[in-house]
Amino acid sequence: MRAVLLGPPGAGKGTQAARLTERFGVPAISTGDIFRANVKGGTPLGVKAQEYMNAGQLVPDEVTNAMVRARLAEDDAAQGFLLDGYPRNPEQAVELDSMLADLGVELDVAMEITADFDEVTQRLLKRAEIEGRADDTEPVIRKRLEVYATSTAPLTAFYAGRGLLVQVDGLGEIDEVTERLVAAVAR
Ligand code: ADP
Repeated sequence: MRAVLLGPPGAGKGTQAARLTERFGVPAISTGDIFRANVKGGTPLGVKAQEYMNAGQLVPDEVTNAMVRARLAEDDAAQGFLLDGYPRNPEQAVELDSMLADLGVELDVAMEITADFDEVTQRLLKRAEIEGRADDTEPVIRKRLEVYATSTAPLTAFYAGRGLLVQVDGLGEIDEVTERLVAAVAR
């Protein structure tokens, strides 16, 4: 399976990706996780990404696209992947198409986990208390949601237009949402 996961910050993409990766036997590739690991390790990529992340803005496309292109070329992604957090704007979506064309493969599905902004804001504020992520503060959450609404939400129509979109309600128990996703993909 070759899939992208869409949905606002706090919708549960990372949580669900970790579960779906086991179900489908393909790696979950989270751009946010890769960036955070690089920030933590103090790599040049991390240094470039950090200020954007802390401001709730997208890391520049040329940085992100190169990183994803390299990741998708790794052996474990040859049989499939679940992309979490990429693409995040129409330019990245076009770039993903070009990467997949170069690899000679196609996307099977775009799964969107829906959740309203009030709900996700509450979840992220709660997560802040547990994980202490630098971007889980109220002003940065607001900015991330703004960026989501402006840049990422249009991807729903983009993938729907290709007949690749499935939408699943992100409210409810974690297990329930997983089952909804699995069922939606099987359809
Ligand atoms: P969330 O979806 O909860 O905002 P992520 O872990 O997916 O969290 O992303 C955290 C941050 O990492 C983003 O706010 C952004 O700065 C950066 N980032 C992640 N994915 C991308 C991407 N595809 N393009 C640009 N920046 C990204």
